[in-house]
Amino acid sequence: MSQTRKPDWLKMRPPSGERFTEIKQSLRDRNLHTVCEEANCPNMGECWSGRDGPGTATFMLMGDRCSRGCNFCDVETGGMEPLDPEEPGNVADAVADIGLDYVVLTSVDRDDLADQGAGHFADTIRAIKERDPSILVECLVPDFQGEERLVQKILDAEPDVFAHNVETVERLQWPVRDRRAGYEQSLSVLKQAERESDVFTKTSLMLGVGEYAHEVYQTLSDLREVGVDVVTFGQYLQPSRSHLDVSEYVHPDVFDTWQRIAEEEFEFAYCASGPMVRSSYKAGELFVEAVMR
Ligand code: SF4
Ligand code: SF4
Repeated sequence: MSQTRKPDWLKMRPPSGERFTEIKQSLRDRNLHTVCEEANCPNMGECWSGRDGPGTATFMLMGDRCSRGCNFCDVETGGMEPLDPEEPGNVADAVADIGLDYVVLTSVDRDDLADQGAGHFADTIRAIKERDPSILVECLVPDFQGEERLVQKILDAEPDVFAHNVETVERLQWPVRDRRAGYEQSLSVLKQAERESDVFTKTSLMLGVGEYAHEVYQTLSDLREVGVDVVTFGQYLQPSRSHLDVSEYVHPDVFDTWQRIAEEEFEFAYCASGPMVRSSYKAGELFVEAVMR
């Protein structure tokens, strides 16, 4: 069953303010893309201003077209452009210019490239750290088709947080994600990061795509089994009518329950969970709190 009317708790607050405009301009000047803007994320005002913690933004690397076509995602498939060799330096300049303390880097999937973009991703992490080693960098990476040497390239660049999203429970992987993605493959990517480095690992799930509670519970168990430190839950919102239907607008109390189960029962370092939560929501603030515990 699809649900079309959004409940009140999903009403957006438009971002505004001097700092918001300043950051927007700096990004335009360098021809950079953020997920924050492209997904019209409701948390922009809060994240960019750093009002409640470190200022955070999510940069989208390697273009705005993807080699995959997941049924929940609004990014266009196919017609990828060559990589911009200036991008790692431009992102590092923008981060310094804007004065962000915590940066999330993510990308489209680039199955078309020999190294699937792992080298470009790693170069961007290094460029930011070279300018200012105190800036915390979270990378939200593709699965690199499970190729360990490519995952290792990212780990060698020493991000502070290594994130890779399982997106949903095992049964729903293929209605939701592109067929080249998969539950076991994603778990093995996260497991490698845990095994091969001291990095903080993180993953995210969308709720409202047809999952049952026992399946979410099992996913939390599987994630802890491979050592994942942090999990987030957010509401799936249908980008257009041609995308996957929303099966349910999950009540905020249910999100609270999953947060409690994740933190108290499964002992994740933290869990951000709520209808408007996105993978990078309050990422800096929660990371700093978790490492100081
Ligand atoms: Fe969107 Fe990522 Fe899927 Fe590409 S791989 S379609 S960017 S979710
Ligand atoms: Fe950007 Fe993530 Fe914050 Fe949304 S939650 S504004 S995507 S950093």
